[in-house]
Amino acid sequence: MQILDGKTVSSAVKQQIITRTIAHKTNGGKTPHLAAILIGNDGASETYVASKIKNCADVGFISTLIRFDESTAEQEIVNAITNLNNDENVHGILVQLPLPKHINEAAIINLIDPAKDVDGFHPISVGKLVQGLDTFIPATPYGIMMMLQHYNIETSGKNAVVIGRSNIVGRPMSILLSQNTTYGNCTVTLCHSRTKYLEKICSEADIIVAALGIPGFLTADMVKQGAVVIDVGITRVADPSKKSGFAIKGDVDFENVAPKCSYITPVPGGVGLMTIAALLQNTLAAAGS
Ligand code: NAD
Repeated sequence: MQILDGKTVSSAVKQQIITRTIAHKTNGGKTPHLAAILIGNDGASETYVASKIKNCADVGFISTLIRFDESTAEQEIVNAITNLNNDENVHGILVQLPLPKHINEAAIINLIDPAKDVDGFHPISVGKLVQGLDTFIPATPYGIMMMLQHYNIETSGKNAVVIGRSNIVGRPMSILLSQNTTYGNCTVTLCHSRTKYLEKICSEADIIVAALGIPGFLTADMVKQGAVVIDVGITRVADPSKKSGFAIKGDVDFENVAPKCSYITPVPGGVGLMTIAALLQNTLAAAGS
């Protein structure tokens, strides 16, 4: 069993981004600039955005964080995005999800200039992804593809099961794994909350991507010997022994699943770090490098 180490891979990707950013600037390009919009005070969202901002600084990007109260009217968010779309010194725009209930998420995402859509959630980006055209790929599935590439994991002809069909993880993941590319060409089964016989489907998979948000959901009896297991789940579980008061848990029962796997990602230290690296990669591309 080998650990797919998000720390090692994301560090390597970030190092390449640093080198390319320096070259981009030397050639007269502008410093890549990511603008993040955060609405409300959700603890997990705060942590994710803070990490994105810090990582921008690590690789030599500019970042701007625009914060709004939970109760902010949708029109104010619309105005902020319009300004960022028109600002030629801003290359990437992201709106941290989830949004407060009174804000129309689809309308907000639709408003982002597709040329600055570094999260890859805009319908134009999604359409291009489906057609296999060059576009911004949502950061989490993109980061997972980088990981498969780094460890040169054979995917062609394999049975891949993706658990979870969200627009940000499961569905784009299923598209990428099924595409006719070096780390695609899988036969993909996309599972969700209404899927029947999930245990049986998983137990026949060569590759499993668990992205549903239920800690420890994927157990050893659902995993075939030698499978590759990618754990996307991030759930905060109360843990009084931690200073923060919670521990981060993945969707995989790591302790019992890992011995059966050829490769597995840990949580933390796996996909989460790759998500950030992929976002930086998209931002660099948005800046024209
Ligand atoms: P989501 O809530 O939008 O989607 C969950 C999906 O899981 C749904 O499609 C649902 O049908 C499916 N599902 C729920 N219960 C199920 C069950 N019993 N059996 C089969 N499928 C079931 O979640 P999301 O935004 O895709 O995130 C999923 C998890 O990944 C969460 O824990 C989230 O925090 C985490 N996440 C991690 C990263 C990262 O960088 N590591 C990035 C994004 C999301």
